[in-house]
Amino acid sequence: MSKKSRKFKTDVQQLLDLVTHSLYSKKEIFLRELISNASDAIDRVQFEALTNKKLLGKKEQEWKIKITADKNAGTLTISDNGIGMTVEEVETNIGTIANSGTRRFLEELQKNKKTANAEFIGQFGVGFYASFMVADKVTVVTKRAGSDESAVRWVSAGTGSYTMEDADKEERGTDVTLHLRDDMKTFIAEHEIRRIVREYSDYISYPVVMDITRTAKGENEGDEEVTTTEEETLNSMKAIWKKTPSEVSEEEYTEFYKHVGHDYTDPLKVIHYRAEGTAEFQALLYIPSQAPTDLFWPDAKRGLHLYVKNVFINDDCEALLPSYLRFLKGVVDSSDLPLNVSREVLQDDVVIRRIRKSLVTRVLKELAELKERTPENFLTFYEQFGTVIKEGVHQDFENYDKLKELLLFASSTSEEGKPVSLKDYVDRMPEGQKEIYYLTAVSLAQATHSPHLEALKDKDYEVLFFVDAIDEWVAQRLTEYDGKKLKAIDRGDIDIHSDEEKAEKEEALKSESETYKPMIELIQKHLDAEIKEVKLSTRLTDSACCLVADEMGMNANMERIMKAMNQDVPPVKRILELNPNHPLMPKLLAEVEKDAASSILTDYADLLYNQALLTEGSAIKDPAHFGQLVSKLMMEGLG
Ligand code: ADP
Ligand code: MG
Repeated sequence: MSKKSRKFKTDVQQLLDLVTHSLYSKKEIFLRELISNASDAIDRVQFEALTNKKLLGKKEQEWKIKITADKNAGTLTISDNGIGMTVEEVETNIGTIANSGTRRFLEELQKNKKTANAEFIGQFGVGFYASFMVADKVTVVTKRAGSDESAVRWVSAGTGSYTMEDADKEERGTDVTLHLRDDMKTFIAEHEIRRIVREYSDYISYPVVMDITRTAKGENEGDEEVTTTEEETLNSMKAIWKKTPSEVSEEEYTEFYKHVGHDYTDPLKVIHYRAEGTAEFQALLYIPSQAPTDLFWPDAKRGLHLYVKNVFINDDCEALLPSYLRFLKGVVDSSDLPLNVSREVLQDDVVIRRIRKSLVTRVLKELAELKERTPENFLTFYEQFGTVIKEGVHQDFENYDKLKELLLFASSTSEEGKPVSLKDYVDRMPEGQKEIYYLTAVSLAQATHSPHLEALKDKDYEVLFFVDAIDEWVAQRLTEYDGKKLKAIDRGDIDIHSDEEKAEKEEALKSESETYKPMIELIQKHLDAEIKEVKLSTRLTDSACCLVADEMGMNANMERIMKAMNQDVPPVKRILELNPNHPLMPKLLAEVEKDAASSILTDYADLLYNQALLTEGSAIKDPAHFGQLVSKLMMEGLG
């Protein structure tokens, strides 16, 4: 290949400008990123070699990542004997084609201009470009394992373009050479390199080596000085998950989390244990403190890093966790699996199933403890991942009992930001309350002001608010807690009165229904197409009206969700309840008795119905007509 010059894609160029000119803090992390890439490259060649021995060649393998500092040239080279890249791969991975990470990283920087620091660059899959924070020219010479293609040299100054040409390199692997900027030459110093490697890359499972030259005095007085150069390993290499927890410091855990979790925030909780018995493995799991943006994206990469007997197998082993625990990051290392496991085999391997069971049990236990011991941390967790835990309530029958204990809900009596658990709710139920009441709504504000709450407020009964879209599904599964039924207060009759009160209310309702009969019939007739029934309400105290679903019928929230999912929703008619104690009712009745044919009555019936729709957060059928009615009413009010 003759020398070719290419331009970077616009986003890559933008990214490079930012990296070179705007990121000031922690420039040293460029080394972590390059070592991490080298380590990934060795992982990959080992993994591919499991099924293609030829990739490794004849020579005995000695995996390593070598750092070479050249004081005279002012360069730092990071070399690996990993997978290498073909011309095409160089171009795709670090050249013209901007990946989605580039754009996301740019957006993140734009959002947090002030706090923008280099540290989290690796999270977006653009770690390689961190090189340009310290170098004014970067050279990559790389040869792909198992390819007949010649090696390739990629050179760029990070200012718009790069060149590619053939290079001489016989051995598989990659050398990345940084021509350090004048003010960055400190990174050539041996003690600096040692410090950075120890701080950020100690856990890397391959030796990170460097030639160290020492000068020693001769043994006898007058002997010449002797200079020796020896390759030294700078990192401890001990896979952090293989250590016992007491051997690992909090900083080490955190640093490793940033590596496996591709996250720049500290984790909320570390779960580190060794399992023995039916499944033998080591697990180091992290609960992040922040949900990733892709938590609900169907194509997001998920899963734990899986190692078998210390060999890296893959970094997105989904089979290890049920999808509702997809927020966990970390590593599982098992010696019970064969090395040549494929993805398909992993899905239904018995060993994997055993590991998975053990992981789920352990994580749920840790979450229960978190809730018990540090409720404020649990709340942080729940705010970020509560929705996926709810998926679990719906999916995982086996662990349903444990999962439901983790649920938290806002309620009609809880303070803002202090949701209650089902247990809290039951513990503080007043005497005489038989069921657990809840209301599903589109938002907390909607729920708080719902007319359905009125009678329960009167009784001092707490109502749980189900305001997450998924709560409707939770409600279908969660029908009972501690022997008490969960009851939607916008569906069917609610049984909150004592027998005495009930008898009294029924008596009153009977005579009121008789009185209001002509009015009820008239409204019913006019709204027949929309409404199943019109009746007087016992659940309202202040509002004039509300809509209620049948005991088995679909409520407003469920209807909205089904529609949002493009499901055909059969037309469901609900019940319009009117409050006989509202001052409007006798006036309406008087109007009916005066002139039942008056058009004002049908206008008012429409207004009542639309009002009920609006207060529960539903859309009204004919907003233009509603607008006209309201204007007309206002005109009348103003004379
Ligand atoms: P990430 O490592 O998150 O994918 P980087 O910007 O660090 O993002 O690297 C981009 C890509 O370049 C890598 O995914 C890999 O394909 C390729 N790459 C970088 N360094 C090496 C290396 N030393 N050996 C082989 N491929 C590499
Ligand atoms: Mg990387």
